[in-house]
Amino acid sequence: MNTNNTGFNTKLIHGGGYKDKLGSVNVPIFQSSTFEFESAEEGARCFLGESGGYIYTRLGNPTINVLENMVAGLEGGFGGIGTSSGMGAINTVYMALLSKGDHIISSDAVYGPSRVIMEEHYSRFGVESTYVKTAVIDNIKNAVKPNTKVLYIETPANPTIEITDLKACAEIAKEHGLVQVVDNTFSSPYLQRPLELGADVVLHSMTKFINGHADIVGGMVVAKTEGMYKKLRSMMISLGCNLDPHQSYLVIRGLKTLAIRIERAQQNAQKIAEYLEKHPKVDWVRYPGLRSHPQYGLAKKQMDGPGALISFGLKGGFEAGKTLMNNVKVSILAVSLGGVESLIEHPASMTHSKVTPADKQKAGITDGLVRYSVGIEDAEDLIKDLEQALEKVK
Ligand SMILES: *Cc1c(COP(=O)(O)O)cnc(C)c1O
Repeated sequence: MNTNNTGFNTKLIHGGGYKDKLGSVNVPIFQSSTFEFESAEEGARCFLGESGGYIYTRLGNPTINVLENMVAGLEGGFGGIGTSSGMGAINTVYMALLSKGDHIISSDAVYGPSRVIMEEHYSRFGVESTYVKTAVIDNIKNAVKPNTKVLYIETPANPTIEITDLKACAEIAKEHGLVQVVDNTFSSPYLQRPLELGADVVLHSMTKFINGHADIVGGMVVAKTEGMYKKLRSMMISLGCNLDPHQSYLVIRGLKTLAIRIERAQQNAQKIAEYLEKHPKVDWVRYPGLRSHPQYGLAKKQMDGPGALISFGLKGGFEAGKTLMNNVKVSILAVSLGGVESLIEHPASMTHSKVTPADKQKAGITDGLVRYSVGIEDAEDLIKDLEQALEKVK
């Protein structure tokens, strides 16, 4: 069925638009690297892009295309480009949009590897970058240079849960002719649709909420216009970071429950955030569903819900963080996020252990900061688990 004018939940279930002569209710896994042409003429038409026929899986594959159509429909874009990972999506965007002598402005709290590859490797090819706290819009305005080409935003940011005003970013991007890119991994299109707020490109690590079951690594880029879509797809094909048909099948299966997974997880997150805010050993809690969040109003306006990620600070600092990690039993001590299972992580001793103290302070990563990705277990069990682990914290 055509889901162009349906609600979000109907898009989740029927948005792939797949139909075949056998009446398959689910999209089959087309595990084929290459596709036969009916004739030399048909092959020629495929290569000219006139027939829409499949040629070779790195260029396109029916199972992958269903997922690309689903995510593009949910984000409200022209088309989607499946990639082997979130980093595959990020590199596709960087490589397609930046040339020697160009400049990119980005959020200082972006996903670590997004920044590392820019500063350590794209710099080798003459790309300049500036990282600022994009939650303060004037910081972006002040960073624009004549050679700025891309404005790259991640909101909410990791692990500070800081929020950037996407509409204000779109105005700056328009004024200066920049391409605005948003990493929407933390919200998923269920909670935030940046293209509707003026962005040009949205990307995801599908490893997180979109798939939601901690069993694959994958990425997706969605372009607003046909021109941008073609540019990005041809770059993904050249880079060779395509998604795999079998993985696509798993992601399609996971994506169908995105709405009910997030609804449940954020109900749990709200209860847990309120519990933590009252706990004597907790210094502060950052969650967009709490009035204490500095951008509570902006979150309400820009997002359809506060999401399932909480950051909180322990009064006991570094040792307290480690003690908590070693004593949780229901939540799993692991990086990543956005799955059905609750995952807990201590950035100071784990993901951000190699960041210098000065940079940690700048990015708001304190020694006692804990990042919690809330799953869909019973909230009471998660709270009881935190309670017994916090008892052991000094
Ligand atoms: C995990 C993550 C990525 C990278 O995705 P991979 O699938 O691990 O390559 C990018 N951005 C954000 C916000 C992430 O959380």
